[in-house]
Amino acid sequence: MEVYLDNAATTAVLPEIAAAMADIMIRRCGNPSGIYKRSREAAGIVLEARTQVADLLGASPREICFTGGGSEGDNMLLRGAAHCYRHKGRHIITTQIEHHAVLNTCKALEKEGFDVTYLPVPADGRLDPAAVEQAVRKDTILISVMYANNETGVLQPIRAVGDMARARGILFHTDAVQAAGHVPIDVEADHIDLLTLTAHKFHGPKGCGAVYIRRGTAMEPLVYGGPQERGWRAGTENVPGIYGLGMAAAHARQGMDTVAGRVRSLRDRLIQRVLTEIPDTELNGSRTERLPNNANFLIRGVSGEEMVLLLDFADIAASSGSACASGSLDPSHVLLAMGRSREEAAGCLRLTLSEFTTGAEIDYTVDKLKEVVERLRAAQRDVR
Ligand SMILES: *Cc1c(COP(=O)(O)O)cnc(C)c1O
Repeated sequence: MEVYLDNAATTAVLPEIAAAMADIMIRRCGNPSGIYKRSREAAGIVLEARTQVADLLGASPREICFTGGGSEGDNMLLRGAAHCYRHKGRHIITTQIEHHAVLNTCKALEKEGFDVTYLPVPADGRLDPAAVEQAVRKDTILISVMYANNETGVLQPIRAVGDMARARGILFHTDAVQAAGHVPIDVEADHIDLLTLTAHKFHGPKGCGAVYIRRGTAMEPLVYGGPQERGWRAGTENVPGIYGLGMAAAHARQGMDTVAGRVRSLRDRLIQRVLTEIPDTELNGSRTERLPNNANFLIRGVSGEEMVLLLDFADIAASSGSACASGSLDPSHVLLAMGRSREEAAGCLRLTLSEFTTGAEIDYTVDKLKEVVERLRAAQRDVR
């Protein structure tokens, strides 16, 4: 059995979407800027996808700009907003648990003279909205809080932060890359001004994403050139990718409630079995305020890297932290921010499900994980 439980890192493209994308690449290859039939057809594909993405967020199609993925979107929105609103102030508030696409963009903005506050989070990984309010200064121009964390899946108090930001006239950005397509998002109710998403985290293709820019918000492009995307992002549109993003958004919106319910109950079975059948384990992050597909465990006395390697021998794909941090031996900045020690953070295992995960796969994974943990703990005892 081959089990893929790293859907927070990336997901499989839906077969019908991949097939239609291939057809667009091979036969319907028009550049949307032309005036002949094939170009008009390509422009129509882009227009429909823009509506599908807008519908996923409760936005208007004119507020959607296609990008080359989540990292690009975060860079564009944070840099663009900071530069456009620098006359009002130079202070930005974000959290210590953001994805590196946000954290490292903020670091770059600090070098340009912006002042960034990185808020800590409590042990359950959920930001206290009152802490955001306390950090606000007269010169605060932008608040960026992720919708759901990519390592723990913990949902952040977006509506509370959005309400506060709106009341004070501060722009509010959320990196919704993990949440989009998985939980309902409403940019109006949540008072979100700027939002980032990417297709490959909800069964669309890699290298294609979108940002939401509330009407009336000034935004500077990251990529200069032609007039595509209303001047927000130059370059010939990635028509097959945009098609794939739009179809993935429509698919997610249509099936959201049933899929989330089914995935959540499988995930709960996984959590239940791991916590009861493997001694000295804990769940990282809030038990209730988390994405339906995420389980992140602290398994004491074993290394996350070794667990991932041994699970791989059993054809199970898992993660010991964020994909971006793996390869380096640095412990997860998210788990450290939640108060875990370096040793604890190195013993974590993230299992993330998709709508294609089955009960048999979950049971196989728990059985194998039990063996792996027993083996690693026994080896530890022998060393001592
Ligand atoms: C995956 C991810 C990103 C980066 O998206 P890419 O499309 O891979 O560039 C950004 N933020 C979060 C929270 C993510 O999970």
